Amino acid sequence: MKLNTMEDLFLGELRDLYHAEKQLVKALPKMAKAATNPDLRAGFEQHLAETENHVSRLELVFGQLDQKPKAETCEAMKGLVEEGKEIIEAKGEDEVRDAALIAAAQKVEHYEIASYGCLITWAKQLGYKRAVILLSQTLEEEKATDEKLTELAESTVNAEAGQAKGS
Ligand code: FE
Ligand code: FE
Repeated sequence: MKLNTMEDLFLGELRDLYHAEKQLVKALPKMAKAATNPDLRAGFEQHLAETENHVSRLELVFGQLDQKPKAETCEAMKGLVEEGKEIIEAKGEDEVRDAALIAAAQKVEHYEIASYGCLITWAKQLGYKRAVILLSQTLEEEKATDEKLTELAESTVNAEAGQAKGS
């Protein structure tokens, strides 16, 4: 990535996020499959559909900039997905795993929220008005997902995990 201008910075971060979202399209079905709580599973499935749309929106933003969509390896998301994999593969109680899956998913959402927030700020400065609209739609979905996960943890999943005795 080159960083001579704010346009370079915007495009570099866009490519990073494009790779991040594509990784999530692959990871979310595995998270859904590993979830025991039906609401959590449904939440992951719903966010998978949204995430597919996030990829499409990023492709539209590339198009607005007359750029071909290009992914640059997002090491941070690779690490977060790897942590999710460790949770999926861990031995133990399903209810405790659900609590851990929520935490892993919230780390992902917070990474996305930070990334979209920065991109939107730069897009405003650069006068990329249509990009601001598209990226803001995604940002709202990331925030809503994060809030739903908190709600699910606090209303049921953490309490269910607290009942697990282990073996
Ligand atoms: Fe996303
Ligand atoms: Fe997300």
